[in-house]
Amino acid sequence: MNSPLRILRYNTGTDKKAFVKFKNEFDAVIFNATIVAYSGAAVADLVSVHKRQYIIDPQTHIFQHDISALQAKNKKGRMHLKKSIEKYLNCMPEALANIIIDEQRTPKVYEVESEIDELVKKVWEFETSYVDSFIKTKEYDKYLKFAKVGPIPRFLIAPYFMIKNEYDRNTNLKWLSINKSCIEKYVSLNIGEKTYDLAAQLVLDKESLLKKEYLEQIKSTYNINGYDYLFIWIDDFDSFDANYDLRQAFYELLKVFDTIGKKPIMAYGGYDSILLCNTEITHRLYGVAQSVGYGEARNITPVGGGLPVNKYYFYPIHRRLRFDEAASILSSKGYFSGKKSSSDYVKDYFDNICDCKQCYITIKNDINNFSNYNDSIPFTMKTRYGIVSRNRPTTDASLIAAIHFLYCKIREWNEVNTRPLNSLIQDFLNAVSVYAPEWYQNIKSWCEIYARLLELVSQPQQNYQYKIKSSMQCWLQKNGLFLI
Ligand SMILES: [Zn+2]
Repeated sequence: MNSPLRILRYNTGTDKKAFVKFKNEFDAVIFNATIVAYSGAAVADLVSVHKRQYIIDPQTHIFQHDISALQAKNKKGRMHLKKSIEKYLNCMPEALANIIIDEQRTPKVYEVESEIDELVKKVWEFETSYVDSFIKTKEYDKYLKFAKVGPIPRFLIAPYFMIKNEYDRNTNLKWLSINKSCIEKYVSLNIGEKTYDLAAQLVLDKESLLKKEYLEQIKSTYNINGYDYLFIWIDDFDSFDANYDLRQAFYELLKVFDTIGKKPIMAYGGYDSILLCNTEITHRLYGVAQSVGYGEARNITPVGGGLPVNKYYFYPIHRRLRFDEAASILSSKGYFSGKKSSSDYVKDYFDNICDCKQCYITIKNDINNFSNYNDSIPFTMKTRYGIVSRNRPTTDASLIAAIHFLYCKIREWNEVNTRPLNSLIQDFLNAVSVYAPEWYQNIKSWCEIYARLLELVSQPQQNYQYKIKSSMQCWLQKNGLFLI
């Protein structure tokens, strides 16, 4: 099966409206294990009613984090373990959970190693039975059973641990060997009556991606029979923004997975990852998971949220921008200059920027309605400098921006799945040169590494005609005829 997997990552309850609306446009939904542990009943409803194919990311890398990254402040300002993490840890091996809950420290690599069997067993149980245990308590359970349409895991992801720059080489190799062992144990558990599709996951930071010495180890770690797909998560990585060395290193990583016959899926990816799913890409991706309301690249260690700001996905350059940046690009192209009638600008917008259903509803026949994507309300917050007033997006503005974003994603998937790579790249480069020229060299150099089609892109027609002409000449000459 070569068509890429379009996966939607479900983060919070506020994603629900957008998720329900677009459920048929995605192949599966992925949840973080901590969200499943915390809101099992709600997840059970979602997967039973809306999307049968689900994936749980077992997030076992939380055993590697500093305790402070797993904590939140309570109302009195004291730090405590986040409820969702505590609930998930209660489903994990007691010996490991207690180190975090009672001793309040990060388990050592040897402590994890001695619990592998128990960890694999517990994670397997969690991925296969936790959601089911909530469904059994629901009224709709008997209907699902009767119609045999109950939700099923699309994949089970084997427990995994990340490679970090802060670890020395031996520690990282140890983590890789634990990963290997987890996959092998998952494969052997998967023999029996009810077998599942299995997947692995590789998580690493950018500095480790640059270390060539890990490549061979990664290759031997993941070169195991019994599973096809492999999720990749590189800390805060976006290949469009990455420098040359990082891009090259990511290319080499994709090549390794190609060599061992695994199908990589980007665990958090933007248009760069979707484009890498095109079948003409030499070492391609086979799927991308993306969130409803977050940026595409994601940090592994949880970081504070910061103030929410309105974002708008600028389709032609395939980038989520702050609203004011998007508005200033449109403004620089004269959209709000009043030189033409507003309805003429609306037509330009639909022709050149986005003609999704949400944009039709939001912009209607007045280009100034574009600002509805930026609706915000003031609120105050206490800081050490006193009370400060800020604006935050209204729920409606966030929702319509999310819906426009998802329409854009569906359009990207359709185009990447049906159009030739060189025409996708030509359009992309043209748009970047018009709307974000400062970004052009960057994207061109990205294409040189991953698409390697630039010569063709520069003069596709001429080359093509030349080839036809010369082969026709050969044929004519062979047959004793000559072109004049
Ligand atoms: Zn739109």
